[in-house]
Amino acid sequence: MAERKQVEIPPFLTVRELAERVGASPIDVIKRLMSNGIMASINQQIDFDTAAIVAEDMGFEARPLKVEEEAEEEEAAPTWRRIYADEPPESLKPRPPIVAVLGHVDHGKTSLLDTIRKTNVQAGEYGGITQRIGAYQVKHQGQTITFIDTPGHKAFTAMRARGAQGADIVVLVVAADDGVMPQTEEAISHARAAQVPIVVALNKIDKSNARPEQVKRQLADVGLVPDEWGGDTLVVPVSAKTGEGIEDLLEAILLVAAEAEIVANPDGKTAGTVLEAEMDRRRGVVATLLVQNGTLKIGDVVVAGMTYGRLRAMFDENGRRVKEAGPSKPVQVLGLGDVPEAGEMFTVVASDKEAKAIVEERKRQAEEATSRPRRTISLEEFFALSQDSETKELNLIVKVSAQGMLSPVLDSLEEVSTDDLKINFIHAGTGDVTESDVMLASTTNAVIIGFQVRVEPSARRLAEANGVDIRLYNIIYKLLEDVELALHGLLEPEYVETTIGKAEIRRVFRIPRVGKVAGCLVVEGEVRRNAQVRLWRGDEKIFEGRVRSLKRFDEDVREVRTGFECGIGLEGFDDIQEGDILEFFVVEKAGTQT
Ligand code: GDP
Repeated sequence: MAERKQVEIPPFLTVRELAERVGASPIDVIKRLMSNGIMASINQQIDFDTAAIVAEDMGFEARPLKVEEEAEEEEAAPTWRRIYADEPPESLKPRPPIVAVLGHVDHGKTSLLDTIRKTNVQAGEYGGITQRIGAYQVKHQGQTITFIDTPGHKAFTAMRARGAQGADIVVLVVAADDGVMPQTEEAISHARAAQVPIVVALNKIDKSNARPEQVKRQLADVGLVPDEWGGDTLVVPVSAKTGEGIEDLLEAILLVAAEAEIVANPDGKTAGTVLEAEMDRRRGVVATLLVQNGTLKIGDVVVAGMTYGRLRAMFDENGRRVKEAGPSKPVQVLGLGDVPEAGEMFTVVASDKEAKAIVEERKRQAEEATSRPRRTISLEEFFALSQDSETKELNLIVKVSAQGMLSPVLDSLEEVSTDDLKINFIHAGTGDVTESDVMLASTTNAVIIGFQVRVEPSARRLAEANGVDIRLYNIIYKLLEDVELALHGLLEPEYVETTIGKAEIRRVFRIPRVGKVAGCLVVEGEVRRNAQVRLWRGDEKIFEGRVRSLKRFDEDVREVRTGFECGIGLEGFDDIQEGDILEFFVVEKAGTQT
């Protein structure tokens, strides 16, 4: 017997993707599915088992696609660590640590960054004009430290999201009069997910209502045990207002930096992260680049995301022109053709031609990716994805409505997990599901569980674009039931139906050998050939099924929009009348976009 060809199939894929994998037409695949009793449209997702039946029907041997391969590449070390991964070990030299300042709103991040900078500018040899370019460097005891100084620290979050983490150390600002707050915990989760050490700046100690000891206890409760209590977190009392403790903070940063291996090859391949970028009317694109490996020079051809250009000029944070910038140095550059996105990686290439080719290829890939949204993991898929690994770990981000709900929810979830079916809490906090939660979920492959909370609209959009599964619950047992079912691979996907359009039947035509066709006017939304359809006569549902044909002026079309006329034939149904309404709908897995 001839050996069967092998085909690798992921845990879930659309009919179209399966067709591509087996090199057949989607119609063929749909027919085979039908003969196995499964009705599926071209964009519908099917699972491995279903796909395997079809593939085997078509003479293939189906094997599970190793999902880890893809995941590994993205999850291994953060990109910034990989930037110099290819450099020969002997070429690596120490570089200044890159520090990001995070913390709850109003706890003093901006003030602290300003104070550190001012203290240093006065002490430094260059006074005068300074400008915010997204990062700056200070010197302490002859050693340089780079601070990322980005308004709102959007870039930092964005960097996390792209796995292009820029920071070596996180300074977590906690106000001594306010203590550990939701965004404090969120910042801790981000730092942990990126495996970046944390130094705590216990800020506002000048205030009379500062309660440093109480806050230290809170920090210990969230896993940041102060070193004076035998833990390994340096907690430095500071005041951004009076400048007290700032030197100690810089000292602490250098201590932590000394323990981490913070290196790069200054003569290696030049690469780094875009911190900020904007269009300036006079100067064109102005971007701040943080060099992480190699040395950036004027005249270099830089590719950043979807744009490139030859560097015309470079400036440091003091507005001085510089000719080159080595590892950990932030520089403002002129010369890029378009505004890159903050958080994007940049690299130096040999020529304009090479840069152009890279950007074109990226654009092509981006187009492909948008037409096929990348899914992370959904609760349903967890079991399938974890089949190959020894212990199964489900990463969760949990948001609840009130602090008091947190431990009951987390405790109950703990109880559901067992030794080989583990739940990892990537982050748990109060409040609605935000963009930041979604970014964290996207980088850690986590499912977001919301209990008695809502999802911010921007977070919903981001989740859809990144295929992040968000589950909302109001009743605890329902939540636990779903998670338990997911752990055991028994969770049925939830499906939601969306009406996409309606058409009114204006005339009925009888076509020889074909049957009846409805002459329709689309009165709402759009109608699609691959959608499902329901026929209403008044309040009565007469038929539900599929579209046999959709035509405009005798031509087969895929969709017709509101206000246009079209001819519609229904599959296996002829009893249509003038005045009937056709309702078109699609059925999708909840929380996903197909
Ligand atoms: P951010 O939202 O974390 O960037 O916080 P800001 O730096 O904007 O500070 C919030 C408020 O706290 C401002 O009114 C600051 O003046 C004040 N603030 C920041 N640091 C200190 C401090 O060390 N002591 C006192 N008393 N107030 C501070």
